Amino acid sequence: MNAEKRLEFPIDEVPKYGVLHQINEQIHWIRMPLPMSLNHVNLWTVGDKDSLTLIDTGMNLKDTKNLWKNLIKKENLFFKHIIATHMHPDHVGLAGWFVKKYGSNFSMSRTDYLQCRMLSADTGDDVPNDAINFYTQAGMTKDQIHSFTKRFGFFGSIVHPLPRSYNRLKDGDCIEINGKNWLVIDGQGHTMEHLAFFSEELNVFISGDQLLPTISSHVGIFPTEPEANPVEDWIESCNKLLKILPKNVLVLPGHGRPFIGADKRLKALIEHHETSLDKLHDILKTPKRAVDVFDVLFNREIDDSNLIMATGESLAHLNCLYYRGMIKKSLDQNNQCWYEQS
Ligand SMILES: [Zn+2]
Ligand SMILES: [Zn+2]
Repeated sequence: MNAEKRLEFPIDEVPKYGVLHQINEQIHWIRMPLPMSLNHVNLWTVGDKDSLTLIDTGMNLKDTKNLWKNLIKKENLFFKHIIATHMHPDHVGLAGWFVKKYGSNFSMSRTDYLQCRMLSADTGDDVPNDAINFYTQAGMTKDQIHSFTKRFGFFGSIVHPLPRSYNRLKDGDCIEINGKNWLVIDGQGHTMEHLAFFSEELNVFISGDQLLPTISSHVGIFPTEPEANPVEDWIESCNKLLKILPKNVLVLPGHGRPFIGADKRLKALIEHHETSLDKLHDILKTPKRAVDVFDVLFNREIDDSNLIMATGESLAHLNCLYYRGMIKKSLDQNNQCWYEQS
């Protein structure tokens, strides 16, 4: 039996999009739609209806904004404070909209705030040569790179412009929401400074994408930092959470259903990446490029829609083996990078 099967899912009912679903006296769950195969994101409110803190916002889409407007009117909600767990559009996408429309305060981590502003600024820009070079070295074909360049800058269209100033939250901070203390815990590997929130008193962990019950969060490399080692960062972050979180904590994740079994899930995630690394090392008896290793890492079809994610994840695992001293890499005369056991 795999680890996910042993998790407990104590809340039977999954809310419809755009309604409040009570978790306990302090916390409500709101689900919003996403236009992708992962079709929803979970958002959490903490506090009383006239002075709420909202953790994550949904994507900057017309439908999501309408759902928000209806909910706010129907339930008479006031959002005093918006917190983003990380800079991905499904989480931070409407933070700027809330601040502009409702005058809320806004907090997130410094690195993710800056990176979100940077990526949003790419919209309308030409594709940098560094990015083309990066995907060429990974082994992508000219046609594949062309389809990437057509989508370049898409990020800014699904994130409302961020507020020009923000409150910085960082690892180890203790914030008070509605009379309860929440510990801020950062994590790396999914983004550079993802924040999650643990209340010992409520025994609740709002995990963003740092801990999900059934899917393994994307851990990949992008052209902005080709030599990064996010898989090792991710494994370290999982180990850190293992030390902090009680076994019976209720995890409120960014996707999927609330669950109990953080320790089992964290161990399974670490094992998942270590197994991938072992399998990857095995097939590198003969030289391979990043695009040649998809079969080992993914059990789904890789096509144009997920090629960039798959390439980034493959490179992340290859870099991890490289930094562990287990493989070497070399560029050929066509500017393609080949990896092989050392
Ligand atoms: Zn994310
Ligand atoms: Zn997400």
